[in-house]
Amino acid sequence: MEKKTTEPMCYEACVRKLEQGERLDREQWRTLIDGYSQPRAADLARRAGVLRDRIYGKKVFVRGLIEFTNYCRNDCYYCGIRRSNRKVCRYRLTEGEILSCCRAGYALGFRTFVLQGGEDSYFTDERIVSIVQKIREEFPECAVTLSIGEKKKESYAAFREAGADRYLLRHETADADHYRQLHPPELTLENRITCLRELKRLGFQTGAGFMVGSPGQTTETLIDDMQFLEELQPEMVGIGPFIPHHDTPFREQAAGTLEQTLYLLSLVRLLLPQVLLPATTALGTIAPGGREAGILAGANVVMPNLSPENVREKYLLYDNKICTGKEAAECLEDLKASMAAIGYQVVIDRGDHISYQKERK
Ligand code: SAH
Repeated sequence: MEKKTTEPMCYEACVRKLEQGERLDREQWRTLIDGYSQPRAADLARRAGVLRDRIYGKKVFVRGLIEFTNYCRNDCYYCGIRRSNRKVCRYRLTEGEILSCCRAGYALGFRTFVLQGGEDSYFTDERIVSIVQKIREEFPECAVTLSIGEKKKESYAAFREAGADRYLLRHETADADHYRQLHPPELTLENRITCLRELKRLGFQTGAGFMVGSPGQTTETLIDDMQFLEELQPEMVGIGPFIPHHDTPFREQAAGTLEQTLYLLSLVRLLLPQVLLPATTALGTIAPGGREAGILAGANVVMPNLSPENVREKYLLYDNKICTGKEAAECLEDLKASMAAIGYQVVIDRGDHISYQKERK
């Protein structure tokens, strides 16, 4: 007998479909996202872990994060270093200071440096190009990742030409209305997506992503996020909980949860098996052991801070950020030990996306 009505697919069937690399429709994503329960999350984490281990083994890639400027022309409602926050003590690192961070990081075993900052017009394309070139010259076996926001396509091309390998630009949310709830009118989802597509086109290993539990986020916007990631096929996905900052319009909003973040990390691993997926600092901030739990849920990257200690407490996107008082070496030692304790090994490696690893050889 032929079935007349299509019955909604059960939770387990949706997971299996995702594991088989088949496209889910909105209703199936809804079943997964709304189907959260503790036992299901544990099962999903296990399955995501198996997939990650099959591709990347028990290796955890580390990135040395250099927060080189907290000046920003943007006014994102969630972010602690937004333009309107007059209480921020603004700083910028010099080229020499950035290179010193890289030297210290190299000695510790970092082979990727991530330059992250606000959108600071002091750092013209020429200045960024010069910094990228100098890092690539001095550390030819290291990768450079930029995370400096929305730029013109000519600028992205110049950064790529200078030797930048990767670019992180979270899409923040794939729903235009939700995007407007998080950003002032001059920032649009449309431009964010244009930038991401351009980065992909230029051959950057490209990172999209979003905060979990950001104000206004719903199951429907999360479905948009998952479908957007499926379509874009980014090499990296940055997912961490939203954490309110006391000097932003979102100061009274609730933080995202550890549980939902871990669950979404597992779903992203199943959606994009080869993706470079960081267990973020924000995840480590909302719960002790958060980053380790992130690795166990399918993540394979951690990004310890390499910024000079005297500026750490000035780059606060959210409250209670961890490791602001510790030096890089100490953070890394702690991380190596805690990763070893869960059976993972922090490796000295550029940590490229698997498809780029083959290309380079
Ligand atoms: N200016 C760069 C770098 C932004 S900071 C850019 O536009 O890409 C990197 C990420 O931190 C942001 O993309 C955002 O998702 C996250 N972030 C900002 N404020 C946050 C908060 N209050 N809680 C959690 N994550 C936050």
